[in-house]
Parts: sequence; C-alpha cells; structure tokens
Amino acid sequence: SYVGIHSTGFKDFLLKPELSRAIVDCGFEHPSEVQQVCIPQSIHGTDVLCQAKSGLGKTAVFVLSTLQQLDPVPGEISTVVICHTRELAYQIRNEYQRFSKYMPEVRTAVFYGGTDIKKDAELLKNKDAAPHIIVSTPGRLNALLREKYIRLNNVKNFVIDECDKVLETVDMRRDVQEIFRATPHEKQVLFFSATLSQEIRPICKKFLQNPLEIYVDDEAKLTLHGLQQFYVKLSEREKNRRLAELLDSLEFNQVIIFVKSTLRANELNKILNASNFPSIVVHSGIPQEERIARYKAFKDFQKRICVTTDVFGRGIDIERINLAINYDLPNEADQYLHRVGRAGRFGTKGLAVSFVSTEEDEKVLASIQERFDVKITEFPEGGVDPATY
Ligand code: ADP
Ligand code: MG
Repeated sequence: SYVGIHSTGFKDFLLKPELSRAIVDCGFEHPSEVQQVCIPQSIHGTDVLCQAKSGLGKTAVFVLSTLQQLDPVPGEISTVVICHTRELAYQIRNEYQRFSKYMPEVRTAVFYGGTDIKKDAELLKNKDAAPHIIVSTPGRLNALLREKYIRLNNVKNFVIDECDKVLETVDMRRDVQEIFRATPHEKQVLFFSATLSQEIRPICKKFLQNPLEIYVDDEAKLTLHGLQQFYVKLSEREKNRRLAELLDSLEFNQVIIFVKSTLRANELNKILNASNFPSIVVHSGIPQEERIARYKAFKDFQKRICVTTDVFGRGIDIERINLAINYDLPNEADQYLHRVGRAGRFGTKGLAVSFVSTEEDEKVLASIQERFDVKITEFPEGGVDPATY
C-alpha cells in the first residue's frame, strides 16, 4: 500500500474500537466507494437511500453504522433489518455476528417463515436472550407483531435491503407498511439495492426523511467490470448437453445455475447428479431447515455446483462463485443484473454464460445490452482463458 496518499481508511470513520478490531479481523483493508460515501453520514443517524453496484459492500454500510450507534438495552430491539428471502436474512445476521464479535453484550436474531413461530416467541420473551438487532423477512416479522410477540417501540434504525424487491411485491409491501407503523416516528431509515428504478424511488422516499440519496443514474455504470458475459444460442433440448460441456471445460471454483421454476431446478439437479456433476439444489419448495442447511453446505464449499431459482438471484454472497449460468434467461433485465452479480464479488473476476433459446430470450438479451450498455458476445468456440475469470 502507498503511504501519503489521501485515501480514506476505516479508521477515518472513528468507529468504536471494538468495531475497528472486528473490521481488521474480517480482512477489510479499505472501504469501498459506497462505504466511503455512506458510512460517515449514516453513523450520525441520517436516512439513506442507496443504489450501488452488486458485490461492493452495501451490507457493511448498514451493519457498521447501526452497530456504531447501538447502545444495547436489555429487552429492547434497537435495529430492524428487513429483506426478501430467508437465506439473505440468515446471511445478514451472520454479518452482524462477525462485526459484533467484540461486543459481547450485543445479541442478534433472525426470523423467517417456514419455522415454528412459537420458538421465535420464546426467544423474544426471554429477557436474557432477547435480541437488540433483528433480521427478518416481512411476513414473519408482521406475524410476530400481530400476535404481539414482539415490540418495536424502541426501534432506532429501520433497514431494508433489496428494497425495490421488497416494496414492489404487494404482500411484502403491505407487511412492511404495518411493521413501519409499529416503530417510533423518530428513527433512522436505511434502504439499499443495486437497482432502483424511477418508479420505485418515490415509493421508497415515502419512508424516508431528508435522506442522503445515492443513485447510479447511468445504468451503464452498473456493469461489473471484472465480469465477462457471453451467450449461447441453442434449442431447449440442447441445454443439458451444452451445460455438461461447459461444466467440463470451464475451470470454475463454484458455479451457480439459474432456472425459471422449482420443478426445473429439481429435474436439472437430478440430471447433473446422475451425470457425475455433484450438485445441490435450493428453491422455495424445500423445507426451511433443509434450505438453510443447503445454503450453508454450498457456502462451506461442500458442493461446487448449485442449481437454483431466483431465491438466490439477489443479495447472496458466496465469494468462491466465479461462474454464473443462466440455464433459463430471466424475463427482465434487472433480474439478469442481480443474478450475474453473484459472480465477481467485491471486484473479483467472474464469468456469466446465458442460454438463449426463444424469441423472448433474444428480446431480453437485447434489452440487457441496451440498458446496461454492455456487449454480451457469443461464447467463443475455443473457450475462455481461465486466467481471465
Ligand atoms: P452488496 O450487498 O453491495 O452486493 P455485499 O455487502 O454482499 O455486497 O459485499 C460483497 C462482499 O464484499 C462480501 O463478501 C463482503 O464481505 C466483501 N466486502 C465488503 N466490503 C469490503 C471491504 N471494504 N473490503 C473487503 N471486502 C469487503
Ligand atoms: Mg447486498
């Protein structure tokens, strides 16, 4: 590293020593751009509406700034974080645990559907175990609220990750509104996503007061530069053979394969396992405990291939993924951006390959290239040099 260059370091944020130590332990040396812009304001309680590229550390913005502000009171929930999937909730809770390791009095909890709500209620009732920070999906948190298992009247920070997704889905939006109303008027509100369309911004802003607004207005800037992107034109029945060829020829660490339905995910997973490609499948049809167990197994590198639907299409951070394959192309450009962003985390290199088999797919491919000003070229016949991804 250079001495005498005026780059911001984490120490310039003047964080609590116990947080600074955890940051060092996590191996974070320099704050990313989004962290440099947001953290100095958000630690002082300013509302933030932030759009920033995937993989560049939005999570640490809210985890660090809420931990910095936290003054834990037994039995009082100070921070609420809402996100759209169970695996993401679990992952965010882990980030809180990593960064609060030197704050032994701080307790965190995660709540999501598909589990026994009575267990959540027990935890919340127990004075010695009750959390100060909770991460939850909207449905379960609203259920806890309706049953009066939880009190949110001491909340000081209200965070939504992947906020456009959470607020565009009708039932999640209704849940969020009810949860929001149960929190005090005076609080900090922090919203994050890699995509914030013009339509969703005013909806987000209804929850915010004089926020710091960060937008990547030029959508071309959302393109991940370390990520190489290719397409393969083929017919539906050629997909399995082509996939096997790719998995054989590409040197990936871990690969994530996206399909459009849970049924197709199961089928493809069976086929892969039968053809000597040990894979794991994760989708919303799998029972909750099993779902988290599989997410962990994949994150722990027990399997190198994961077949999934859009439940893993946003927010999931698995650093060894350097290949993303769209076995089925999503039906809109934003979703493509989130999916391929699973490869190439924190500025690392990666490769994305998309199968294009219908006229609809061709249109989506064209709209992706136009919106994000990216050139997606045909997968080269000679393959791709492994040194480049
Ligand atoms: P985003 O939510 O913006 O898509 P994440 O918060 O999931 O990105 O972060 C992506 C990865 O980058 C994570 O593995 C995280 O631990 C890592 N990361 C975040 N900030 C830093 C930093 N300042 N230095 C090194 N790694 C970082
Ligand atoms: Mg994220």
